[in-house]
Amino acid sequence: MKDCLLGKTLGELKQICAELSLKSFVATQLAQWMYSKRVRSFDEMTNISKASREALSEKYDLGVREYGAIAVSQDGTKKYLFEVSCPTAAGIETSAVEAVMIPDAERRTLCVSSQAGCKMGCRFCMTGRQGFHGNLSVSDILNQFISIDESAELTNTVFMGMGEPLDNYPAVSRVIEVLTADWGFGWSPKRITLSTIGVLPKLKDFLETQRCHLAVSLHNPFADERKSIMPVQKAFAISEVVRLIRQYDFSGQRRVSFEYTMFAGFNDDFSHADALIRLLRGLECRVNLIRFHKIPDFPYDCSPESRMIAFRDRLNDNGILCTIRSSRGEDILAACGMLAGRHSQQ
Ligand code: SF4
Repeated sequence: MKDCLLGKTLGELKQICAELSLKSFVATQLAQWMYSKRVRSFDEMTNISKASREALSEKYDLGVREYGAIAVSQDGTKKYLFEVSCPTAAGIETSAVEAVMIPDAERRTLCVSSQAGCKMGCRFCMTGRQGFHGNLSVSDILNQFISIDESAELTNTVFMGMGEPLDNYPAVSRVIEVLTADWGFGWSPKRITLSTIGVLPKLKDFLETQRCHLAVSLHNPFADERKSIMPVQKAFAISEVVRLIRQYDFSGQRRVSFEYTMFAGFNDDFSHADALIRLLRGLECRVNLIRFHKIPDFPYDCSPESRMIAFRDRLNDNGILCTIRSSRGEDILAACGMLAGRHSQQ
């Protein structure tokens, strides 16, 4: 299998050009075609000579792959399905992953996947139900940005699709490098949010080295209750995650938010709101309350609207900024893992 160019840094592209006896400026042209213009084939790189393109394509694959299926919601949300081949202990596994493009006024946000399936086993999540089918490569992740119809219009991204991004951090941090580098997409880190359930050692790396926003899936402030739906709590307690986050500055451009999916009768009474207030007091942050879309074999429904509003108001009245997140793409099963899950059952 040929190595992919998508995901290489400018330095690596220069090295490749040197090995192929191509002029160094070809590396800069390559980076521009791949990351600024986001072309899908060598043929489109018209200012690179045909001979140079042939030398490159003989040894390297560009790494751009067309999406397989697409579902479009009435609200404009679009869900793309990609086929990926990931190395696993059992050999190469082919799986389906998804990326969701969410339009909102002038914004076009892409929710990207970082793994095929997931090993974290959160009980309320369809991706978790599928088990783990491998890490996506850097080019698999970047391809989600490049091959969708709205590639040129994208304004923001969230690592909130399938998988736990900090469990595939080497690839994810390289993608962030490509997105933010001058020779890459040239995006400000403010346009990027990484969402995690709190994998502590990698979270520390992320907080030390990146300037992107952070979203933490919290869902319950009580350790025993959180553990019952999120096994990660056994290894990395949410209290420790918040303790780590408190060591970093979120008063400037970088923001931290906490995702809190509302399950009726499980995490939605005032004892939970008050524990959340105690946990987050003094931290510059926002809590997003999320409506839950019921999945099979999970005992809880979404909390009623009145409960969500009361919960939100309790937090806001006690100094914790809290909003109820609007649901997008419900008619196309936009909840995490739904499209890929359905696809694999066909
Ligand atoms: Fe994995 Fe995220 Fe689903 Fe948990 S919620 S199983 S971390 S994809």
